[in-house]
Amino acid sequence: MSYISFYRINKLYDSGVHAIKDVTFDIEQDQFTVLVGPSGCGKSTLLRMLAGLEEITTGKILIDGKIINEVSPKDRNVSMVFQNYALYPHLTVYDNIAFGLRLKKVKTPVLDNDGNITKYINSSIPREEIDKKVKEVAEELELTDYLSRKPKQLSGGQKQRVSLARALVRDNDIFLLDEPLSNLDAKLRVEMRKTIKALHSEVKKPFIYVTHDQVEAMTLADRIVVLNKGVVQQIGSPKEIFDEPNNLYVATFFGSPQMSIIEGLLTYNNKKELGIRLENDDFLVIPKDLLGQLTDYSLIDKKVKVGLRASSFRVSEGKNKDHFSKITCDFVHKELFGNETLLKLKLGSGDLLAFVPNNIEIKDKIELFVHTSSMKIFDIETGESIFGLRRESTFKDIKFNIDADEISFEFASKEYKYPLESRCFHENLNQDSLTLKCLNEYISLEKKENSIEVEGEVSLIKNLFQRKAVYIKLKNQKEPLMLYVKKDEDIKEGSLIKVYVPLEYINFYLDDGKTPLLSKYEIHNNILEEDYDLVSKKLNITNKEFIMPLKGIKVIHKGDKIDKNEYRIFKVIVLDVENFGQKSLMYYKIKGMKGYFTALLEEEIDQVVTPVLKLAIKK
Ligand code: ADP
Repeated sequence: MSYISFYRINKLYDSGVHAIKDVTFDIEQDQFTVLVGPSGCGKSTLLRMLAGLEEITTGKILIDGKIINEVSPKDRNVSMVFQNYALYPHLTVYDNIAFGLRLKKVKTPVLDNDGNITKYINSSIPREEIDKKVKEVAEELELTDYLSRKPKQLSGGQKQRVSLARALVRDNDIFLLDEPLSNLDAKLRVEMRKTIKALHSEVKKPFIYVTHDQVEAMTLADRIVVLNKGVVQQIGSPKEIFDEPNNLYVATFFGSPQMSIIEGLLTYNNKKELGIRLENDDFLVIPKDLLGQLTDYSLIDKKVKVGLRASSFRVSEGKNKDHFSKITCDFVHKELFGNETLLKLKLGSGDLLAFVPNNIEIKDKIELFVHTSSMKIFDIETGESIFGLRRESTFKDIKFNIDADEISFEFASKEYKYPLESRCFHENLNQDSLTLKCLNEYISLEKKENSIEVEGEVSLIKNLFQRKAVYIKLKNQKEPLMLYVKKDEDIKEGSLIKVYVPLEYINFYLDDGKTPLLSKYEIHNNILEEDYDLVSKKLNITNKEFIMPLKGIKVIHKGDKIDKNEYRIFKVIVLDVENFGQKSLMYYKIKGMKGYFTALLEEEIDQVVTPVLKLAIKK
């Protein structure tokens, strides 16, 4: 089991911002994890939920196997380092570092005359012990000469070292660092990265580091979690994220120069080879030995996007001819980059950046060879990679049956039941098949309970940095499934294997593969104890057992006449809406309430147009 688990986390702020969307990932005990993404993507929100500084709307966080949603921040054994250092300006460096230790209570055994423990009492840490710890940590972070200074007499780098020392000295289980280096200049940042990395190797505890800087993520992380708009885009080692981005977003976020993206048609050439027909009629052949990693056959004869890094070009064909395709581009511009030249080129209406040797002869038309085994292909509509690693595996045409409290479906002649519990589903079902998707991270070789068992032939094994991606061709499914296995796992291409897809991680979609069948949230209609007074006053309720109804709630529009004797009328803030075609599932709260409620409405709602609504419930 992993040390820290985020499971189906959603965060709705009262303002209606859905900051974190169905986020699931694990962190191992000694990992250096970096959460990276642009400003506003939800990094700090996730970190603050783990620290207990922000409530979790739905989902759960586990530390060491225990759910900690309701555990108070001080009992989570978490240290935090912030961008603005958060030092006490009137205290010396010594006192700033010692501050937390002086407040900390430790369990001290009380012994009887025979030396047996009779009980434990909470006591402060002895002054000598604090002194020793402070000096040790100060030494480690090269702060010994500054212990008697006040923060304003320190440079930015020194201040951040004090704040690191303060986090370290408390000997907590988890270290959270929120953009700690953003206030420092470039040179200091490089130095401090080394310091932080060295601290992590020494402490061997989970470090979770938030940054918007892709270079920082690449240099620090054992494992990167890429976020955009509250959604996890990819999780993997820096090398994996760089070499095998699973969508356009990740592909273009990392790397300098940025990966070039051009359009083309995914199709066959006259030699019946599958590849990409570019605008100028050049053809990039998908290497035959890598065909197994094509994950979406429905896009053949459709336009796709091709991603090429500047390092994917050669001036002559390599040894393995099947891995190179020739293209002809128009020269635009060149720039010297040390021992290489960066060419800016045009191919049709697309722009390409290519590294070439400095001695290449520059003409108006330049011929280059593309290393096609490193090219990426993306679905134009979704931006998902269709050739290489993919976030999810998709299973289509699944026969299913929904009744009141479960979905049952058939897969490879076996019947599975998915309990709906407190999640809500699309009610307008008139189709008879659905699409299942599962994040590839959670598909495994290990037989697990409550999993779908699938069998297929290993069509391709791809070696990654610390693990392997295995593609499996399933019977009755056109597109291969993909899972990650350990580097030393003994699997051969062409062999038959069984893999397990855990029910708790699958998502259901209509046949289009896009319309979700189940809500992202859990239904929540009980009134929390702390909200009871407020809700009962607003709704004029005297019955303590009252539960807000899921259905039968009316939205009051301008001009509607509602009989107050028949209905309870109240004003709510719309937190989020999931529209399910003529119906919608709305998440709302009454101003001042801690919890939220869910309502299934008989109309679609646009949260932007109506952030506040009047509702009516029949008495
Ligand atoms: P990041 O750390 O990636 O910059 P944040 O986690 O701070 O992003 O914010 C994620 C989203 O949530 C942003 O849209 C932000 O405006 C919003 N947000 C953050 N804190 C609050 C808050 N206290 N109330 C309302 N919205 C918030």
